[in-house]
Amino acid sequence: MTDLTRLNAASLADLIATKQVSAVEVATAHLDRIAAVDDRVHAFLHVSRAEALAAAERVDRGEVTGPLAGVPIAVKDVVATEGIPTTAASKILEGWKPPYDATIVARLKAAGMPILGKTNMDEFAMGSSTEYSAYGPTKNPWDLGRIPGGSGGGSSAAIAAYEAPLAIGTDTGGSIRQPGAVTGTVGAKPTYGGTSRYGLIAFSSSLDTPGPCARTVEDAALLHAVIAGHDPRDSTSINQSVPDVVAAARLGKNGDLTGVKLGIVKEFAGDGSEPGVTAAFRESLDALVKLGAEIVEVSCPHFEYALPAYYLIAPSEASSNLARFDGVRYGLRTGDDGNRSLEEVMSLTRDEGFGPEVKRRIILGTYALSSGYYDAYYGQAQKVRTLITRDFQSAFEQVDVLVSPTTPFTAFPFGSRTSDPYQMYLADLFTIPTNLYGGPAISVPCGLSEGLPVGFQIMAPTMADDRMYRVAAALESAVGTLTPPAL
Ligand code: GLN
Repeated sequence: MTDLTRLNAASLADLIATKQVSAVEVATAHLDRIAAVDDRVHAFLHVSRAEALAAAERVDRGEVTGPLAGVPIAVKDVVATEGIPTTAASKILEGWKPPYDATIVARLKAAGMPILGKTNMDEFAMGSSTEYSAYGPTKNPWDLGRIPGGSGGGSSAAIAAYEAPLAIGTDTGGSIRQPGAVTGTVGAKPTYGGTSRYGLIAFSSSLDTPGPCARTVEDAALLHAVIAGHDPRDSTSINQSVPDVVAAARLGKNGDLTGVKLGIVKEFAGDGSEPGVTAAFRESLDALVKLGAEIVEVSCPHFEYALPAYYLIAPSEASSNLARFDGVRYGLRTGDDGNRSLEEVMSLTRDEGFGPEVKRRIILGTYALSSGYYDAYYGQAQKVRTLITRDFQSAFEQVDVLVSPTTPFTAFPFGSRTSDPYQMYLADLFTIPTNLYGGPAISVPCGLSEGLPVGFQIMAPTMADDRMYRVAAALESAVGTLTPPAL
């Protein structure tokens, strides 16, 4: 009997649709796998066994059909799931059960995809390692002594460990792509506004973008197609038809990139990437040239300011978004003994409920937005954002997509970057420019460095998500997928 947890989503969907296996068997296989390995991986904060099996039964009864009907999925804990605990890995939301589903969750349900549970992450999606989860870190299935990336380390680790074939992540500065890169899986950030933010616990509203995590490019595209598309409940949702990402991924599989121009960013060169990362990236470029692609060097002179601009914009928006967690309405309330003032209770609640990185961001953001400093910090950062967008636009006049390593380094050991926030922030050096611009980008595994996965990033113009999937699938056809050591 085939181990159902080893199959990709496209194969599982076929087997279920042709009734060779039932959706309940597929869900059960994954729930059993979670029970067997998650005490070591800790990808899940909550497993929704009963809900997953009930959804699978509906598929088996023929009540729901569709391209991914019966394929189970894990959802990052920053996404609201009705009646299922949603904490954003924070103590301040411990025990909160949302009264509604995020739009993307409603779409998963309508597509007949059983939700296996909620995945671990850095608290409020702030971090690059899951070490800032209030519930303990997730381990990288490639090496349990190393981080799985972040903030969506749980989603990527769950699929790398065969606990789920697919997962939902959110990408504000790299949190789908960087965990994808360091766990040897695929992670795609759609065009901003291409996937709905309704029901996401907001971090930085002008950047937050939910998207797919998968083990193959085609699987990522299939999931992308399920969740994407206009949502009137999200004011920044794009009201246009979604590019056909599934057709593009299938086209890319034929491995022909004749005439496709790939831009490498000159300013990313002296960036301090680990030698093994640079080597794997270069080898992948050679592979793409063999498929017919042409490499062009382009200049994006403002990319070097992306990290500082992001660390003003994201914390500023976060300090505003997180003001609602004050002990009055959601989750934790501390010190409400009848003698304390409202202000004291709020302050005690926030002190106890938020972890150190979240507090750092709130303080940074509050400072950047304070009167007299707004123009000097937030205002300047927004100007930099415009310049970065122009860099992308002029690059895309010369090339079809931009390519780079996803992250300068592979999975690092626990504790090695927590003492210096800047060292942690560097994980997103190559992913952040795209978020500031708003275009789509994907990370695809492209080889190993000292036994650890390296990710290859493909960035495309806004609403050209199909283009990145085509190049990604072509690369995958040339370099193959990665299989972690057995757990
Ligand atoms: N690591 C980045 C941060 O900490 C990105 C987070 C994200 O994309 N959610 O802000």
